[in-house]
This record gives sequence, C-alpha cells and structure tokens, in this order.
Amino acid sequence: MDPRWRRALDAVRVDEVLAPESLERAVAELARSSRVEREAIGRSERGHELVVTFVDRGHRDGDRPAPLVLFYGFPDPGEGLGASAALGWMRAILEQAPTELRWAFLPVLDQDGQVERGQLRRPIWSETTSIDLVSGAPRAEARALRGFIERERPRLTVALHDEWHSAESRPLYFLSDRVLPASTVVELRGLAARERWPLDASYDDPEMGSGFLCLANLDEDFRGSVWDAAGAVGRLFASEYSEREDRGVTALCRLVLESAMVVLDSELGSGAD
Ligand SMILES: [Zn+2]
Repeated sequence: MDPRWRRALDAVRVDEVLAPESLERAVAELARSSRVEREAIGRSERGHELVVTFVDRGHRDGDRPAPLVLFYGFPDPGEGLGASAALGWMRAILEQAPTELRWAFLPVLDQDGQVERGQLRRPIWSETTSIDLVSGAPRAEARALRGFIERERPRLTVALHDEWHSAESRPLYFLSDRVLPASTVVELRGLAARERWPLDASYDDPEMGSGFLCLANLDEDFRGSVWDAAGAVGRLFASEYSEREDRGVTALCRLVLESAMVVLDSELGSGAD
C-alpha cells in the first residue's frame, strides 16, 4: 500500500459512529481549513440540501484536474459506519501534507430516510433503502449524485454501505462495478484473513470468487443508477462490514478505509503489482 495511505490510516481516530445530523455538522467544520471547499449539488425529494465537501479541489495533473476520490455516506438509513470513517479520513488527509489527488465527500445521501430527521441513528430497513441502486426512476438525491459523478468523473467512488440497517452480523463481502485485478482480490482476501473476518460465501463471483460481487456479472439492471454512473467514469467499490462489539470503532473505520485504499492503489497503478 502507498505509504501515505498507511500513515493516514494510522492517524484516523473515530470515537463513535455519528448520527447524520452530527456528522454533517462535523464535516462542515472541516471548512475552517483553506484546503477545503464546499458545493451544494442539489436537494433531496423533501428539500434537504446535499453538500459535497472537497479537499484539495484545485489540484491538477498537468493540464487536467487531478484524480478525484469520492466517498458518499448513509446510502441507506442508519448506515453510518463508513461515513464516520470517511470523516476520519478527511481529517487525517488534512493533517498531512497535500497529496496529488482530490478528495470529495457527500456525508448523507439518504437524508429523507433517516430516523428522527437524522438526529438519531437506529437500525432500520425500509422500502426506500438503496436509493443509489434504483435504475428506473431514481429519487432526486440519486439524480443529484449521478449528475455530480458525470461532471466530476471520480477515478474511484466509494459507496459507504454497511449492514447496520438490518442489525445483522453478516460475513464480509466486497463489491465492484467490474472485475477487480487479481492482485487486488488477493490483497482484499489477505485483509479479511488478517482480521479473521469470514467472507460471505453466498456471493461467489465467477472470476473473483467467494465474498466478491461484481455488477458486470449480475443479471439485474443497474442502468441509470448511481453505481452505473460511477462505473462508467471510473471504479465503483463498496465493502460491507458489520459493526461488531469485539472491534473498536476506530479499528472498524480503518478497515473500511484500508479496503478502499487497496482498490485506489490498483486504480492509480501504485499497488503491489
Ligand atoms: Zn446499504
């Protein structure tokens, strides 16, 4: 792994998984840094403003914008583990010397579906979950995020799903828009083995194997979804960790981030291979 990601991972500290409202407040505080810019990209069905927070937005790679990494949190109600991880990552990146990349974070995608208007975080499953996956008639927030992705063309989009909504403790699986390089699959498997975290055998990609899921190999129609848009311009990745009492929040958040950085390395060509 790129030593800078290793240093940033070591610097990540997360005290608790925040509810949507507290998370958005914490993200807004990042704007005190001169390296941070914020942009409203649209509104939810019920009119909540969706604001993307950038770090190092102006970075360029020659005459083009530098590669962008996008995280979006709370894709489903209550699923906030990854969003708190991404907040920890943005803070860690800001503590360190600027990288050549650009980073963007939409903390709460599903504003409308949250419990108590986002003041609380409770396990919940509703009909409106997975709004980033709806292909036929996407909701306003999914359309806004899709438009943002089409405009900014992130090299990597990290969909921060987890298993909190259903309060289940499932095995782990990794998800991507298309087949990941073999060395990346080996690295992700190694990470799960190191953590003694079983992989979900009910997902068994013909090429990547057990515990991996690839949209390109599924029969379902994802056309027009957020995932489809992210895969069209770069790589879409998600890791489905469960919150577990035997792991501290910081350790869990670092796992979510480490998984994403393994994929980022492979996208940037600076991985193990
Ligand atoms: Zn989810």
